[in-house]
Amino acid sequence: MNDQLNIGALLERAEKYFSKKQVVSRTLSGIHRFTYAEIGERTRRLMSALKDLGVEQGDRVGTLAWNHHRHLEIYFAAPGMGAVLHTINLRLSLEHIIYIINHAEDKVLFVDEDLLPIVEKIATKLPTVKAFIIMTDQEQLPTTNLQPVYSYEPLLEKGNPNEPFIKDIDENAPAGMCYTSATTGNPKGVVYSHRGIVLHSFALGLADTTAISESDITMAVVPMFHANAWGLPFAATWLGSTQVLPGPMFTPKLLAELIEQEKITITAGVPTIWLGLLKELEGGNYDTSSLRAILCGGAAAPKGMINTFETKYNIPFIHAYGMTETSPLATLSRLKSYQNKLSVEERLDQRAKQGILVPGLEMKVVGGNGEVAWDGVEMGELLLRGPWIADEYYRDERSQESFKDGWLYTGDVCTVDEEGVIKLVDRTKDLIKSGGEWISSVDLENALMAHEGVFEASVVAVPHPDWQERPVACVVLKDPYKDKVTKEDLLKFIAPQFAKWWLPDDVIFMDEIPKTSVGKFLKRALREKLQNYFVQN
Ligand code: AMP
Repeated sequence: MNDQLNIGALLERAEKYFSKKQVVSRTLSGIHRFTYAEIGERTRRLMSALKDLGVEQGDRVGTLAWNHHRHLEIYFAAPGMGAVLHTINLRLSLEHIIYIINHAEDKVLFVDEDLLPIVEKIATKLPTVKAFIIMTDQEQLPTTNLQPVYSYEPLLEKGNPNEPFIKDIDENAPAGMCYTSATTGNPKGVVYSHRGIVLHSFALGLADTTAISESDITMAVVPMFHANAWGLPFAATWLGSTQVLPGPMFTPKLLAELIEQEKITITAGVPTIWLGLLKELEGGNYDTSSLRAILCGGAAAPKGMINTFETKYNIPFIHAYGMTETSPLATLSRLKSYQNKLSVEERLDQRAKQGILVPGLEMKVVGGNGEVAWDGVEMGELLLRGPWIADEYYRDERSQESFKDGWLYTGDVCTVDEEGVIKLVDRTKDLIKSGGEWISSVDLENALMAHEGVFEASVVAVPHPDWQERPVACVVLKDPYKDKVTKEDLLKFIAPQFAKWWLPDDVIFMDEIPKTSVGKFLKRALREKLQNYFVQN
């Protein structure tokens, strides 16, 4: 059994070969620096402390926490002792947080000091939680009604600094879990195995994917409660990168400062984060020359944004696609060597697509007539399988809808071009079907976002008496353009790119587009708001 892949070995390698390299962690009290030797010892102490609290192999260990060193230690301590790391999305509603803690049957719950109010409100509804562990830099525990309650640091002090990582564990055993929002109803649990996480870490290290290496200084902006911060903490530790964890309530300014001061080489997050950073860079004078890549995923990267980062700031941009169910890296967009000859515009078009499948995975794109042709036109649903793709939702009947014949049905609709590059045209529930023909809201959004006055744009399908559905664009303008750019300006701007019937019937200006807990456009809310739009107008 000693050839089984396991997560403890990732940190063991960092302790052994990269003992001097650092984890830089921001918490409420400021910046803290730990070597991997220190992180290793603290993680071992934590494993022994958890054992003393009664945590056993297979038990779920919940975390409600930002990106910081203590969260990283739990990332390794829980699976390192054979338990299961359950990261909880702190932006979900209280009802959903209660649901997922009870559904996962978390035995202990780690909570950041500033997130205590969330847990205090729901503690009486969490019968499986036998201990609350508060993560704070203060010597004194904050006053709280949680019971029984422990403070992280004193718990560590009592722990055994030489506690071994568990080795005789089946590599297919669960190592982590993360719940993902459903279109309706309660979130669905995705379970990650040791094998899946280790192989996904290999994938992040490949030269043609994100090429994470010892020389990197990584900064995961994507939350550690969302798909394991895209696996970066695992890969960066294993490969010996310096890691910067930006902590609670960061702002674009703070991110820009961290990039400059810590000389970040690669950072990862959703487009909303990078749109905010762009605004900050435009207003400030930051040195971002250390960045070799911004990794962007979770939603489509607008062409205009890719272009601005690269041409104005000389920051290479990597657009990737994945889901909580896929650990998450599934496809990544890079030009092939011979595509460098394409025109600037063609290159950007290619880069804004979701890219090609990463090695180790398999895909199928299935339309009404079976697998689609690789012609960049025919649309179908993307199906995935592979060692780091989930094969069910944890104890959930909805598994049957998404997992069939060994494939994950992603619910994402895409085309495939002759290069094998997928282009997401929409999610099944988001495609706009007008008069029986499909319109891609994503294409319209990208075109709108390429306008210099547009900060954000979301195009939704609105019920229409004649055409079943018509696209309506919801647009947030950048401050200097407010009341200056009109609906007509925007439609004129995008018109050359589309057939006339694709153009949105209206453009509604808003102050803000509603977002999901992880910063994506909440199209459902927009659709509901506009439900009767064509009836009233
Ligand atoms: P989540 O599980 O919350 O990470 O959401 C995964 C979903 O986000 C996917 O199924 C896609 O619909 C969407 N998504 C992720 N990456 C991209 C991308 N690069 N472009 C467009 N949509 C994306």
